[in-house]
Amino acid sequence: MHTELERFPKFTIRNVIGTSGCVGEFDCDVLFADGQSGYMCADGRIFYRGKFSYLENKARQAKFLPDDPDFLSHLSADRTYAYFDSYWGAIAELILDRTIKWEKMKYNGRTPARRGLCSVCSASIDEENTGYVAGRGAHAGKMACDKCYPAIVKPGNLSFIDDGTILTQIRGLK
Ligand SMILES: [Zn+2]
Repeated sequence: MHTELERFPKFTIRNVIGTSGCVGEFDCDVLFADGQSGYMCADGRIFYRGKFSYLENKARQAKFLPDDPDFLSHLSADRTYAYFDSYWGAIAELILDRTIKWEKMKYNGRTPARRGLCSVCSASIDEENTGYVAGRGAHAGKMACDKCYPAIVKPGNLSFIDDGTILTQIRGLK
């Protein structure tokens, strides 16, 4: 498993059951509502988004159904994936996807400013606080501020999702 993912909860697939998804188990307690979206990632590049649902009376066991049915053919039994909830998974995917071409945003006073929020820290991006914008592809138009881009996005650094965040927000422990 990609070293950036080691600290996150693990989900090991036990069975891929045709088109209805796969079943597996977590290595620890995680927090999710039945049927809630989440992500699995093994290699630090490809994130599989889908829905997790509980299996009856089976602690730490769950079913995962990827949003894109084509992903099922990529998932294999006995392989272990890092688990992310939908919020942190969307951010982690943006940071670890090396195919995204980020461009520095510049305003020359003539073109209207592109405004938005940093996808990592939610800081405002506007004429004064510029940042970087993702080029074409699935993440086109996503933005990263001048602080998050060099520190987090460019190096592909997930350390800002600290152990406390993983414990309370992803695992749901107090
Ligand atoms: Zn930011």
